[in-house]
Amino acid sequence: MMRISSAKTRWGSCSRKRNINLNWRLVFAPPAILDYVIMHELSHLTHMNHSKAFWKHVEEMMPDYKTHRTWLKKNGRTLSRATGSLSQAVDTLMIN
Ligand SMILES: [Zn+2]
Repeated sequence: MMRISSAKTRWGSCSRKRNINLNWRLVFAPPAILDYVIMHELSHLTHMNHSKAFWKHVEEMMPDYKTHRTWLKKNGRTLSRATGSLSQAVDTLMIN
């Protein structure tokens, strides 16, 4: 199951019930970044942690994942800020 969330700091998450949540702000990120976050969360279905095995799994699926990870670290805040007022509107929609 996949859900869309509006968390300000998390781009994606994977619960123990194997539900993957993606932050809707990612639609404003380059497509490769969205792919990376999805891959990252899908890898958590195999490894529910950030162990070496987990990152190895991510690397096998997406050899250039480090570039995307760096992009998110650098631009994540900007992305959150840029979508600030829009996010309030979306939060309202989600509550209603
Ligand atoms: Zn993770």
